[in-house]
Amino acid sequence: MGDRCSDVGSGTPCLSSDAEQRDPGADQRPEGMIVTNTDEHFMRQALKEAEQAFKVDEVPIGAVVVCGDRIIARGHNLTERLNDVTAHAEMQSITAAAEHLGGKYLKDCTLFVTVEPCPMCAGALQWARIGRIVFGAFDEKSGYRRIGGKMLHPKTKVVGGVLEAECADLMKAFFKKKRAL
Ligand code: ZN
Repeated sequence: MGDRCSDVGSGTPCLSSDAEQRDPGADQRPEGMIVTNTDEHFMRQALKEAEQAFKVDEVPIGAVVVCGDRIIARGHNLTERLNDVTAHAEMQSITAAAEHLGGKYLKDCTLFVTVEPCPMCAGALQWARIGRIVFGAFDEKSGYRRIGGKMLHPKTKVVGGVLEAECADLMKAFFKKKRAL
């Protein structure tokens, strides 16, 4: 469990039932909850997207959609450039993935995103029936888990905490830079 658990306080469990954090004793998890090297590989690709956002002064969150071990869509946060509060990394990549597949459902896909999705994106991921979500940093303030894990499609598997430190550090660096301005 990371430092963020202590932020929760009052004995609230760190995770909802459908999100598991990576820990050393994770090998007994049911399928879909196991963090693999492949997860880290694709999370690094999502981090590259987040770095793109950072460079153009957008909140540094990146995402990729993987289908059959192949990246079919990439996206990063574009809320400033598009002047659109809905232009989150996940929304960009869901749209691009559906376009790539020629169908709106992403049942056989995994979305990798550097920060826990917000409720808006969790709602969109539910509509897309995404097969699996892998996120990096936990977001106690704006993440969907504060609303409740039931937002997602019941069949969607979720893993959180993959490359958590790298994903969180990028966010911290961004807001530190903003405060210094
Ligand atoms: Zn979002």
